[in-house]
Amino acid sequence: MERIVVVGAGFAGLWSALGAARKLDELRVPTDQVEVVVINGTPYHSVRVRNYEQPLDDTLVPLSDVLDPVDVRRIRGIVCSIDLSKRLVEIDIDGQAQWLDYDRLILAAGSELVRPGIPGLREFAFDVDTFPGAGKLQEHLLQLPDLPESAGRLTVVVVGAGLTGIELAAELPARLRGIVGNGGRDPVRVILADRSARIGLAMGGAQPVIEEALNAQGIELLPGVSLEAVTRDGILLTGGTRIDAATVVWCGGMRASSLTGQFPVTLDPFGRVPVDSFLRLDNVPGVFAAGDCARILIDGERPSVMSCQHGRPMGRYAGHNAVCDLLGQPMLPLHIDWYTTILDLGPWGAVYTEGWDRRLASQGDDAKQTKRTINCERIYPPRTGSREDIFKAAAPVVQAPPYTVRQAL
Ligand SMILES: Cc1cc2nc3c(=O)[nH]c(=O)nc-3n(C[C@H](O)[C@H](O)[C@H](O)COP(=O)(O)OP(=O)(O)OC[C@H]3O[C@@H](n4cnc5c(N)ncnc54)[C@H](O)[C@@H]3O)c2cc1C
Repeated sequence: MERIVVVGAGFAGLWSALGAARKLDELRVPTDQVEVVVINGTPYHSVRVRNYEQPLDDTLVPLSDVLDPVDVRRIRGIVCSIDLSKRLVEIDIDGQAQWLDYDRLILAAGSELVRPGIPGLREFAFDVDTFPGAGKLQEHLLQLPDLPESAGRLTVVVVGAGLTGIELAAELPARLRGIVGNGGRDPVRVILADRSARIGLAMGGAQPVIEEALNAQGIELLPGVSLEAVTRDGILLTGGTRIDAATVVWCGGMRASSLTGQFPVTLDPFGRVPVDSFLRLDNVPGVFAAGDCARILIDGERPSVMSCQHGRPMGRYAGHNAVCDLLGQPMLPLHIDWYTTILDLGPWGAVYTEGWDRRLASQGDDAKQTKRTINCERIYPPRTGSREDIFKAAAPVVQAPPYTVRQAL
């Protein structure tokens, strides 16, 4: 029996496993000849991109619903180390170390929120990086009305105005008002702070739209500031400014899983391993990588972005290619010649840009409809339990951009 082991069941890992199972089925390889095994810390696939929303009930897809119909084996555990010479992964399963050998390995362990050593950040700041993190924030917000009166009781500061910080800040005024109720007598305050000179600067042609949408929702923009410390009741900025806030949310960017450090390759500034167009690591035989922990030149020139937009196709191709590599079949290069960004702006709508220079393509309700289609349909695996549906979705093809698809419907 030969074995393809996938580490992680996020967007990249889930689709790697399904891509591999699909190709094995196409080649009519029996499961007692080659098996696909997924190792993941939790028993579900988290639709992580929705963690700025509430409620999140529908964002956890049980892995059994998607993997069992296509005969992919699941192991719930954490991969702690990889022995490249013996082709073994060490898995922590409920505190017990176990080793599993592989013939092909697909690293898809994703990324984590970067938490620099800013005093108080780990103790007092919330985040929406994971499902449990987002749940903890919501629990805290729900008990704000019961806290004793204080200057910052209904103030939330979101620190970091990348895409996640903007999406979260745009959701918060309406969410907080819903929690506080009281006919608006207790005004809520949402502040979005960032080091950059203007909020949303990286969003190219969409930047003025973002500013307009945030202003329209009463969000206070605080560009050009740096976080010095977080306390139980607020933040301190460089230069001495203090802001009273019972809630601080850190959205300071992502870094690849530390498992990437196990490979003898030069990591990029995000901690990612470089892969070739077939998703293979250079000079590490038998190892592929996909998603946030890998860097591919996605159109032959530009590095992939840590995103589910790139993670899903990287996974489908990595799974397909791992099977082809194992069985001596020709592999397929991944090449995506389009790039879009769709940013949720809360009840105001959304903004949709096209191209690497982020040209404004659509905004408001129109873009919001596209965002809903992406978040609630496009990025989900089929949940019908049908082998045929799952294999169809796992084919190594590059989807059309979402806006084009919606217009064609
Ligand atoms: C709030 C938020 C909003 C976002 N919005 C967007 C968006 O609009 N569009 C977009 O394209 N992207 C967005 N992203 C980014 C996107 O979520 C990530 O790029 C994507 O999740 C990466 O997929 P992945 O499979 O590589 O990693 P992950 O989703 O991080 O999955 C990794 C999986 O591996 C598991 N794992 C990790 N380490 C181990 C280990 N050692 N052993 C076993 N299992 C392990 C984890 O538990 C997890 O299940 C957003 C992210 C956040 C947090």
